[in-house]
Amino acid sequence: MDAIVIGAGIGGLCAAIGLRQRGWQVTVLERAAAFSEVGAGLTLMANGLRGLDVLGIGDTVRAAGRADAPGGTRASSGRWISRIDAEAMTRLLGTAALGIHRATLHEILRAALPAGTILTGAQVTGLGPQARGDEPTGRQVVYQHAGKTVTVRAALIVAADGIDSAVRAQLWPDHPGPVHSGSTAWLGVTGPWAGERAAAISWGPGAEFGTVPLGDGRVYWFAAVNAPAKWRVEDEMAAVRQRFGGWHDPVPGLLDATDPAAVIRTDLRHLAAPLPSYVRGNVALLGDAAHAMTPNLGQGANQAIEDAVVLAAVCGPGDAIPAALAEYDRQRRPRSQQVARAAVQIGRIGQQLANPLAVGLRNTMMRLTPSRLALRSMARHADWDAPRIPR
Ligand SMILES: Cc1cc2nc3c(=O)[nH]c(=O)nc-3n(C[C@H](O)[C@H](O)[C@H](O)COP(=O)(O)OP(=O)(O)OC[C@H]3O[C@@H](n4cnc5c(N)ncnc54)[C@H](O)[C@@H]3O)c2cc1C
Repeated sequence: MDAIVIGAGIGGLCAAIGLRQRGWQVTVLERAAAFSEVGAGLTLMANGLRGLDVLGIGDTVRAAGRADAPGGTRASSGRWISRIDAEAMTRLLGTAALGIHRATLHEILRAALPAGTILTGAQVTGLGPQARGDEPTGRQVVYQHAGKTVTVRAALIVAADGIDSAVRAQLWPDHPGPVHSGSTAWLGVTGPWAGERAAAISWGPGAEFGTVPLGDGRVYWFAAVNAPAKWRVEDEMAAVRQRFGGWHDPVPGLLDATDPAAVIRTDLRHLAAPLPSYVRGNVALLGDAAHAMTPNLGQGANQAIEDAVVLAAVCGPGDAIPAALAEYDRQRRPRSQQVARAAVQIGRIGQQLANPLAVGLRNTMMRLTPSRLALRSMARHADWDAPRIPR
């Protein structure tokens, strides 16, 4: 029984690993011709790490990353608004969050699949008509590869083709698709860094600067500001310095330690309108294709990992696929859409809040919040028990 996964991002690769463990023959179709080192860092939370544990690669990932350092939230002056006790968080959730470079995580995920599972340079152009109305015949996947149009049929199709999912657009043509959140973010990774290594966020009016220490002595940073969609600047690093160069230490030092040519910027987009379903026939949407969210909770990839583990847990090669996928939808849609909603809300009262009076009020309220309450509210979304994948 064949499964086709469209997209070799974090979600697609985790799905492929889980489905193989479940007994599926899996092919991953990826449009990129090759995998490059571009990209920045990522925080894996307890829920994502528990999912990776079930997939059998949690320890490898932990060894390649850096367990959460103490940190919290500061004002742009450097004054702490809220401190996070990383050890207490680890006790609460049973595992520490992890900072890791995306390229490192991606490499580990690829290594967990047998050679030949991923077909690169394979751009899916759409799904063919349902051959018969019933499973397991399923739909055809049409893709371009080496200048040819190829059509294959699979009993299970997993669309993990990201925020601009072509599969979502085809199967849910009335859905408005992703929208701009009102913010844009620069991402950078320092060279070797001997200074402060806190997992922290600093908030100024309409702006946020965050740091995530990586396993190899570098620090991943992100800097987000309110901005219109497709905002253009001539020199990205000059724009970051103009906005954040006067912030507290170690922000200016981190910028100095970063190769300006490697700084990337991305508009922060999300699926503001939740999908009515993540499944249609024998097709399941997964990861950003299903629930692209703003990064304010650091949960997008973690939710994609949850999707992958649940899909493999509920959908075996001998199962009635529509029923199994209905269960996937039942388990995944409410949770992931709730996390996506919470991420938008955190963004509004965090990075996007621009009125100085409102900023002052928020900071005072956060300072007055007992640390135990703050800890619990931060841990809420990361507290998830991964199901077992039947072998
Ligand atoms: C600034 C920023 C910071 C973030 N920080 C965090 C964080 O700290 N923690 C966290 O959990 N999440 C974070 N996220 C979110 C996270 O990056 C995403 O949720 C996650 O990468 C989604 O993975 P995915 O596999 O669903 O999609 P993607 O990573 O987008 O992968 C989709 C794949 O599909 C391929 N593809 C697309 N179309 C086709 C096609 N037609 N045919 C074949 N292949 C195709 C693409 O080339 C790509 O490889 C952040 C996001 C942003 C923007």
